[in-house]
Amino acid sequence: MPHPHPELSAPGELVPGGLRIIPLGGLGEVGRNMTVFEYDGRLLIVDCGVLFPEEHHPGVDLILPDFEAIRDRLDAVEALVLTHGHEDHIGATPFLLRERGDIPLVGSELTLALLDSKLREHRLRETVHHTVSEGHRLTFGPFDLEFVAVNHSIPDALAVVIRTGAGVILHTGDFKMDQLPLDGRITDLRAFARIGEEGVDLFMVDSTNAEVPGFTTSEQEIAPVLEQVFHESRQRIIVACFASHVHRVQQILDAAVEHDRKVAYVGRSMVRNMAIARDLGYLNVPPGVLVDAKELADLAPEKQVLVSTGSQGEPLSALSRIAQRNHHFVHIEEGDTVVLASSLIPGNENAVYRVINGLARWGAKVVHRGNALVHVSGHASAGELLYCYNIVRPRNVMPVHGEIRHLLANAALARRTGVPDENVVIAEDGVVVDLVDGLATIAGKVNCGYVFVDGSSVGDITESDLKDRRILGEEGFISVIVVVDSVTGKVAGGPEIHARGFAEDDSTFDEIKQPIIDALDRVVAEGVDDAYQLQQTVRRVVGRWVNQTHRRRPMIIPVVIEA
Ligand SMILES: [Zn+2]
Ligand SMILES: [Zn+2]
Repeated sequence: MPHPHPELSAPGELVPGGLRIIPLGGLGEVGRNMTVFEYDGRLLIVDCGVLFPEEHHPGVDLILPDFEAIRDRLDAVEALVLTHGHEDHIGATPFLLRERGDIPLVGSELTLALLDSKLREHRLRETVHHTVSEGHRLTFGPFDLEFVAVNHSIPDALAVVIRTGAGVILHTGDFKMDQLPLDGRITDLRAFARIGEEGVDLFMVDSTNAEVPGFTTSEQEIAPVLEQVFHESRQRIIVACFASHVHRVQQILDAAVEHDRKVAYVGRSMVRNMAIARDLGYLNVPPGVLVDAKELADLAPEKQVLVSTGSQGEPLSALSRIAQRNHHFVHIEEGDTVVLASSLIPGNENAVYRVINGLARWGAKVVHRGNALVHVSGHASAGELLYCYNIVRPRNVMPVHGEIRHLLANAALARRTGVPDENVVIAEDGVVVDLVDGLATIAGKVNCGYVFVDGSSVGDITESDLKDRRILGEEGFISVIVVVDSVTGKVAGGPEIHARGFAEDDSTFDEIKQPIIDALDRVVAEGVDDAYQLQQTVRRVVGRWVNQTHRRRPMIIPVVIEA
C-alpha cells in the first residue's frame, strides 16, 4: 500500500522541549485508532484498536495498527490510555501487550472491564491497570493526564488532557453532545471551557460526523419508535444492535418491562458485555425480565424479546442464522418483528440486505434505520463540533478519527471558528506532527502499513498474499507441469495442465500444449537453461493464451522439472 504522502521523508530529531505526535492508525480510516505522544524520550499511547477487514481482505480476521515505528522503544512507553471500550479503540491492545506485557493500562471502569475480558481470552494475566474517571489527574513520567467525561455510544467514555512541557493537548476520544443521555452523563463542556481558559495548544477532535450538518439526535428519541414497535407486535420481537451499546439495550429492556415481555441475549459478545455492564451498574436490569435464551423459547411468542448480535449481517452471527432458519432454537415465524437498531457500516450493505431479505421472506416485519428512527450516531455532528471549537478556542487543531474527507470537513469547521489556516494540521496515519513553541507542524512520516491477523498468524500475511487470494478467489488457478531433459533441454514429459475455479474441462488446454513445447524449445535453443526462466516462459505463453481466448487472468503456477 503506497503511502498517500510520497513527498514526506522520515522525521528529523525532535527538538528538545518539543512534543511529537505519531498517529499509527485511525487517521484516514475509521478504525484501529492509535496515537503515540513523545516527549523528552518518553512515550504515551492513546488507544490501540482494530480495523475490521472488508471484502478485498479475504481470510483476514482483523487489521492492527503497525507497531513498527515504536517497536524498539516499547520500554519508553509510560502508559496506554484507552478512551472507551469500542473495538476500534481497545481491540489491538492484547497484540501490543504480547510485545510488552507490563505497559500500564489507563481507562475508565467499564473500558477496562471490557478490555479485561479480551485480555483473558488472550491469556494475558499479569497486566497493570489504572482505573480512572472524570476529574482524575494522574502523572506518567513527563505526561500529566486529566480525564474529562464525554458522551458516546458506549458508557463511561473519556476525553484526555495531556499536559507536558511543550503545552496542553485535549484529545476528545470519540464523543457527541447528547444533552439528555440515558445516564445523565453529558460531555463536560464546563471542563472543556476551563481547559480552554488555561490554554489548549493542540485540540485533537473526533471527525467521524464532521460532514453531517446540525446536531446528532438524542438516544432517547429512539424510545417512542421502540414503543410503537412493541405496541404493534403480536409475536416475537428480535432486536439486533452492537454488543457494546449498553444504552440501546437498556431501552429495549425498559420497553420489554412496559409490555410484559421477557428478554434473552443471543450472541456470545452480547451475553458477555451486558453481564459486565450489569455487574458494574451501567445497565439496569429490572428483576425477572431477563431469562436464558432456551427458557425464552418455551414462552408464548408475544412474551419474547431477543436481543441479538449480527446487526451488520455478519455471516456467522445469530441473526444471519435466524434469517437462514438454521439457528438451533430461534425459529423465525410469519408475523415476528425484527429491529436492526444500529448503523450500517459501509461495506456491509450487501450482507445486511441479505439478512433483511431472508427475514422478510419468512414473513417477518423488519424495522431498520432505512424505515424508522431506530439508530442514532455516537459521534458529534458539525454543529456540536462548532460549539467545541468556540468553547475551547484552541491554538492548533488536528482532526482525528475518520477518513480523509471527514478530517478535511472537521478542519474546515475549525477554520470557520477562526483557527488560522497554518494552525490546522491534517495528518493521516504515519504522518508525524511536532508541537514546538506553540505551533503544530508536519515533521515527516513513519512507515505504518496494515498488519493482518489471520488465524494465529499476526503480520505474516502481506498485501501481496491478499492479492494472490483475490486472484485465486475471482479467477481460479492453472498449474502447468513440464519435465525437461537436463542434458538435451528437450521437453521429456507433459505439459500436464490442471485448473481449479476455471469453468473449463481440462481438455480445453490441449490446444496450448504444443505452443508451450515450441516456446521452451525456442528459449533452450537461445541458451536459456535455468528453471526459473523456463517457468517464466511457460507462464507467459499460458497467460497470453488464457487472456486472449478466455478473457481471464487466473493465477498460473508453472513447474519445470529437470530430469
Ligand atoms: Zn467509539
Ligand atoms: Zn471509534
